[in-house]
Amino acid sequence: MTPRKESMKDLASWENEKDYVIANVTVVDPSNNRIHDGYHVGIKEGRIAFVEPGKPQVASMSVFDGGGLHIAPGFVDIHVHLREPGQEYKETILTGTRAAVAGGFTSVACMPNTDPVADENSIVEFIIKKAKIAGFAKVYPIAAATVGSKGEKLTEFASLVEAGAVAVSDDGHPVASAQMVRRVLEYASNYNIPFIEHCEDMSASANGVMNEGFTSTRLGLTGIPGYSEQICLARDLLVLQSVEVPFHAAHMSTKGSVELIREAKRRGLPVTAETAPHYLAFDDTDLGTYDTNLKINPPIRGVEDREALIEGLIDGTIDCIVSDHAPHAAHEKQVEFENAPNGAIGLETTFSVVMTHLVKPGHMAIADALSLITNKPAKVLNLPAGGIQPGDAADLTLFDPKEEWVVGKDDFHSKSHNSPFIGQTLNGRVKHTIVDGSVVTATLMHV
Ligand SMILES: [Zn+2]
Ligand SMILES: [Zn+2]
Repeated sequence: MTPRKESMKDLASWENEKDYVIANVTVVDPSNNRIHDGYHVGIKEGRIAFVEPGKPQVASMSVFDGGGLHIAPGFVDIHVHLREPGQEYKETILTGTRAAVAGGFTSVACMPNTDPVADENSIVEFIIKKAKIAGFAKVYPIAAATVGSKGEKLTEFASLVEAGAVAVSDDGHPVASAQMVRRVLEYASNYNIPFIEHCEDMSASANGVMNEGFTSTRLGLTGIPGYSEQICLARDLLVLQSVEVPFHAAHMSTKGSVELIREAKRRGLPVTAETAPHYLAFDDTDLGTYDTNLKINPPIRGVEDREALIEGLIDGTIDCIVSDHAPHAAHEKQVEFENAPNGAIGLETTFSVVMTHLVKPGHMAIADALSLITNKPAKVLNLPAGGIQPGDAADLTLFDPKEEWVVGKDDFHSKSHNSPFIGQTLNGRVKHTIVDGSVVTATLMHV
């Protein structure tokens, strides 16, 4: 133990420091696929000033001891449901962004299926304003592609983008007609924003509540076939062939979808895709417990789908992992499986699920895996996030890659607790989250 190290402060004691150095950290730079041991990171006026090896030699700045933790670009989640306005009993922008930073996410993009739907600039502005007041993660609203997400009339993309919308989507539903998909794509390209599709053929899903297969028959539950997702995805890709503008496929869940995207990318179509942690951690045989927190849309699929998704992440077919954080109140989920609403929270477990199911089994190296929740999703939506180079915003996440923890029912910062990971032991834990140079996790307990 050197005297220099003893004089360093613990980052948990952070108090409104503006310019400081975090010493004794392992830097993870996903954009270069690099890891650097024994580095220090300097922060000035909310931006990264330097990332260098060895001990810091700056007399004028406070030095915090990073304690040997890993430090990465703040995580980026481009698919969350914050529920405000309209469903504040499930989540608010304050509690949702609090959950985000607790899980290491410094930037989130939120879906427009609020009440009212985010189809007007006033709602987009409201969300941005509320997020700034909350002071946790940065929030980038995704606006509805059609008025009320009804699939009939385009929203005013110009004013929505001017208000701060970064993409359009009718998530929760697919855009039902091919003609409307074409119009959305053409219109979105004028504003340089992607269209994000919730790929589902509603006639194929019908009244299904879980993946169609041997397990649904055994459990006596109505199934949703994998082709429900693939019909919609294939249709959109055919439309995309004639328009060639950015298209992003939300929450991919099947092997067939991975194959469709792989082929579309091979042909050079401008398609990107995401999947979610629950599709990597579970398969439909886990539904034998009738845990309504595993009732998700699209549903948790079969073993071969799960394996194909991991394969798709490894070879770059799937660009990123999103939480699809979907809070629901306890009374809504404590009903019969058929009647429970779809969705699970995920902001506080996504990083650890990535570590547990991709890094620990050796599917991916840590920098590659973190790329799926940092620079790659940022690129899909052109967000100023996901980097750890001098000049980048000082949005940073410090974590212990080895720590094991048990997900506790009452430990969530989200307003809702509908997580299928409760009781599971996960690997890797977020320790501190920094947004624009401010250690936001230091203030979590005061909210
Ligand atoms: Zn969706
Ligand atoms: Zn969603």
